[in-house]
Amino acid sequence: MNKQDEVLNKLKVIIDPDLGKDIVTLGFVKNLKISEGVVTFDLELTTPACPVKEQFRSDCKKVISELAWVKEVSLTMTSSKPSSALNKSGRGLATVKNIIAVASCKGGVGKSTTAVNIAYSLSQKGASVGIFDADIYGPSLATLVNAPFDGLFQKKDLIIPVEHINVKLMSFAYASANTGGGPAILRGPMVTQIINQLLTGTDWGELDYLVIDMPPGTGDIQLTLSQLIPITAAIIITTPQHLSFIDVKKGIQMFDQMKIPTIAVFENMSYFVCNSCNEKHEIFGSGSRKKLVEQFGIKNSFSMPLDQDISAFSDSGTPIVIAKPEGESAKEYSKVTDSIIREISKLNFANLPKPEVKFDNGNIYYKTDNGVENDIKPAILRRQCRCAHCINEITGEQILQQDDVEDSIIPNDIKPMGNYAVSINWSDGHSSIFPYELLNELVQ
Ligand code: ADP
Repeated sequence: MNKQDEVLNKLKVIIDPDLGKDIVTLGFVKNLKISEGVVTFDLELTTPACPVKEQFRSDCKKVISELAWVKEVSLTMTSSKPSSALNKSGRGLATVKNIIAVASCKGGVGKSTTAVNIAYSLSQKGASVGIFDADIYGPSLATLVNAPFDGLFQKKDLIIPVEHINVKLMSFAYASANTGGGPAILRGPMVTQIINQLLTGTDWGELDYLVIDMPPGTGDIQLTLSQLIPITAAIIITTPQHLSFIDVKKGIQMFDQMKIPTIAVFENMSYFVCNSCNEKHEIFGSGSRKKLVEQFGIKNSFSMPLDQDISAFSDSGTPIVIAKPEGESAKEYSKVTDSIIREISKLNFANLPKPEVKFDNGNIYYKTDNGVENDIKPAILRRQCRCAHCINEITGEQILQQDDVEDSIIPNDIKPMGNYAVSINWSDGHSSIFPYELLNELVQ
């Protein structure tokens, strides 16, 4: 075996925990050179903000050093270039790798605050980042990030974004400050046109992530925007008092229509830690995260406390991840951000297997993402429905009786619901959402 192969063989034991394959098969190892016992190569990851970057670095050095002839390992961490899908969108977005839409069904739930803190957290982890405030009616980016601003400038036919602490920023508020105009009487189609012009007309340069603070709601404006912009993934922000599952479902469905996976649900202001007793108070009740996992299979659901510092720093224009990076809230934002990075890396490797569900020969055929396949009787699955009509959402007890479902029931329609669940419309007129996790249990 030649020395190159010896090195590659060693590196093959290092598995990417998210993609489930070794780093050689994934094509991460580039420019491998060996000279007089010195092994030099690049490890090209999907993102410079990879949460396991340092682990990869030390694992690579360790396994290669086990070869008796190796004197030194020189390893450079790099990351891949933008995908061709985004290149096609052209203009200012041509060199943007991933677009993350941060959406909420209602206003005032902390969508903009979350978008800004996630963006700065991505930047702190080494990624190049931009934030686009698409909320024309209530732009808040200029308040949340107190960037020095003395007007927008244009270079060739693109607008130069405002830049503050390594993050590029663009908002309708900056553009309207230039012209002195406001958004008061804009109608839907005009709004989407303005947003699209501003977004594609900004010179974003090479970005790993562009975070879009979407206008609140799941109506026409949001739908059109999702069609116009090549969004990689969506995050839905909600609060426990707003946590209506109908709303979360509407949000996921809207992105689904556009084939945009919802990769995380973020429950903001979900509890409060009292200064004097240090106790966690779940003012609006607990258990909503559990319901999110049970109903939509979204494991990436996070809770952020109601934290006076978050609002105080936001109001003063410094995101809390910058102002208090060691605080509990910044750590929670960092956790959310890591999970977003990992989910997007998985999406970028679109050849990862997906579960398959279809109605076939009187049964529901299900194949798990690791290839286990089996049939499930439709009535058995229908009786497992966990929707608010079928179980008591507070006690978790089953309301639906076994006899309520005829053995002859069949699905009329089966569609994926987000990345982690499937939605089924039944012949009895009922519709259910089943996380793949539940189907996995049924077939194994
Ligand atoms: P949206 O974009 O959904 O309209 P904002 O991000 O503008 O909401 O937030 C609304 C208000 O709530 C702001 O004053 C913000 O500082 C505050 N806020 C957001 N998240 C939190 C939190 N976790 N704790 C305390 N205040 C928060």
